[in-house]
Amino acid sequence: MKVIQHSVETLQTALFSNCQDLAKLYKEYTQEERQLLEEGLHPGQPGSIFHPLTLHSDSDWISAHPEEPQNFESFYRDPKRKIPSATHNTIYIQAIGSFGKAGAQTDQYVEWLREYCQAFFYGLSLKLLPAVTVAETGCSFRVNSNSHNLQILTGDLLQFLRKKKPKDAFCIVGITMIDLYPEDFWNFVFGQASLNFGMGVFSFARYDDSFYSRSYAGRLGKSLQPKQGDYSLFDGYYTPPISIILLIKTLNNIGHMFGIRHCQWLNCVMQGSNHLEESDRRPLDFCPICLRKLQVAIGFKIAERYQASPCQSVPSFPKPTESFHTSRLWLRRCLDILREKT
Ligand SMILES: [Zn+2]
Ligand SMILES: [Zn+2]
Repeated sequence: MKVIQHSVETLQTALFSNCQDLAKLYKEYTQEERQLLEEGLHPGQPGSIFHPLTLHSDSDWISAHPEEPQNFESFYRDPKRKIPSATHNTIYIQAIGSFGKAGAQTDQYVEWLREYCQAFFYGLSLKLLPAVTVAETGCSFRVNSNSHNLQILTGDLLQFLRKKKPKDAFCIVGITMIDLYPEDFWNFVFGQASLNFGMGVFSFARYDDSFYSRSYAGRLGKSLQPKQGDYSLFDGYYTPPISIILLIKTLNNIGHMFGIRHCQWLNCVMQGSNHLEESDRRPLDFCPICLRKLQVAIGFKIAERYQASPCQSVPSFPKPTESFHTSRLWLRRCLDILREKT
């Protein structure tokens, strides 16, 4: 494991910028808010709230996908970034196909995840559109010739989402447990987005522990020749259950809709990742640099956003909720700083 420890100067420039107008904007934060944000300048010290970025292998996102790091200033000055408004203030999530076994417990868990996402993008509302079957999207599909699992075509799904997008949408995000492909000659893709249109579609099929094993329940017979338009193959087709990874990736993907790129500064929910483990100890939240980006996009009070998190009281679901307990303790420490001297 490699730790990427940036210097205080580098982190300062990423958070404040050297430009006068942005330094002035920064001064609008309360002393407590600044104190919290500046906790990020000394990551990984004993008792720190924020931690340095770690790379676990060469297949990690930064090593595999070099990107220009985005500091606060480059985000702020990006003329293409979309900003929510009074008339475009709802984030819509459209589930496509099934998510493991349906049931009341899954519904309850999904509702809790929705609340979590809504508090995360505090100030906007987050609505789940009624789930649709693959057939309802009318998309093209195929059986992957290497991994022998069903795949659906991203372009068709984006077209479907474009038609479904409600008028008050800030963005619409399609999520599915069925694997995706963007073009015939591609093996697969995790997702595809059109930031201009405020939409994206993402699959979590490959985060299933057994996806790459020969015994994967979604593997079909090699000789299968599916007929386009005959969606019966999707009836009862195996899909992995909802997990914490889906939440982390969904937050990350919605973050991109605001023009926030992958975080290369600190351990952060906006960090790019190809393989997230459930036991991942990262906070389910932003580092100060990404938090500042979201804060200027939405305009919330930082303490109010943390306060709204349903992590304050985690229900006991029969699903992995360990990370939420860790998050709750982490949130309390943030709120303690924000409450100091008040
Ligand atoms: Zn991402
Ligand atoms: Zn970040």
